[in-house]
Amino acid sequence: MALAQLGSLNALEQTAEHNKFWQRWIGDNLPSADTVGNISTAINCNSIRKIIKHIYARLKRNKALKPLSMGMFALVVDGHESHSSYLLHCKGCLKRVIHTSLGDKTQYYHRHVMAQLVCGNFYLPLDMEPQRPGEDEVAAAIRLLKRVFANYPRAFSLILADGLYMKANFFKLALRHGKDVISVLKDERRDLLKDAQGLFKTEKSYIYDNGKAKRKCWDMEGFTSWDTLKREVRIVRSLETSYIKHHKEKEKEKKISDWIWASTISQQLLPTEEFVELAHKRWAIENNGFNELVNYWHADHVYRHDPIAIETFWLLTMIAYILFHAFINLNLKPQVRCRYTKLHWAKLVTAELYLHLIYYSDGLSPP
Ligand SMILES: [Zn+2]
Repeated sequence: MALAQLGSLNALEQTAEHNKFWQRWIGDNLPSADTVGNISTAINCNSIRKIIKHIYARLKRNKALKPLSMGMFALVVDGHESHSSYLLHCKGCLKRVIHTSLGDKTQYYHRHVMAQLVCGNFYLPLDMEPQRPGEDEVAAAIRLLKRVFANYPRAFSLILADGLYMKANFFKLALRHGKDVISVLKDERRDLLKDAQGLFKTEKSYIYDNGKAKRKCWDMEGFTSWDTLKREVRIVRSLETSYIKHHKEKEKEKKISDWIWASTISQQLLPTEEFVELAHKRWAIENNGFNELVNYWHADHVYRHDPIAIETFWLLTMIAYILFHAFINLNLKPQVRCRYTKLHWAKLVTAELYLHLIYYSDGLSPP
């Protein structure tokens, strides 16, 4: 269901009319939508995580995962709200009050944190952890990271996160496992930010152009004003100028963005230019990770409103996503791969499923 992007248990159930096909594939008739839904609430999600780990190990062993610059692999940690509702809720739902013109209303929602491995040629979602009622996103991320460190101890050396994760306990956990962190520097670390801003005026900057944007960078080590971390951090700033061409307009619009990151990684391990390129991967994952999972893979669809079921279907969708991208990256020749969009290949997978259903139910061998 996930791999063919069917998006609903009922769509899957309709294929059960062609049970000869399923008997070949799974050795039995397809269970009903209700049964699949019920079972999804009682699955041990760690058994699905083992499958993801197994696929990762196969990809790694077959040298299918290429590193980023400086031979590195990075892990992006980021939160995602999967759905919200005013009416339906379960024991895993988080709650918030929404002020509307008709008065305050309680809204229920689910959020989880995902860990995605960024390779030179792959975005690999490795694991996810639901945020539980009463805790913040970083608490869920810490639980997730502990499991990722245990399951993937050598898969990456660097963690990329947004400003929310500039917390001493998050950084310390990473450092204890020998990983560096790059995080956006936010106002909450005011002392650190003020110290850095003072130096941007006097310290010399370095300019480079990556073809898309001109980047003026400052890169300074040895900041000690984050006292709860109890170690020095490095601050990198990139003031970026790019030109965006809007659809029908002739003139390009000038866009300036100002990025400041705090990190534990040394200049020796990751020089300025490579640092800035890599730090931006945190946002590339927005398009290649969450957006694709949600828009094409129906990851946000609530197949069954239950905390375990939601976790189960997210993890299964991650498996489908990984298998699909492994197929595109490894089984298709580059000249064929670049001729079509990913959506085209995904539709072919769906078409293939229905074609086989029909052939088998007519007693024919598929072409
Ligand atoms: Zn719920």
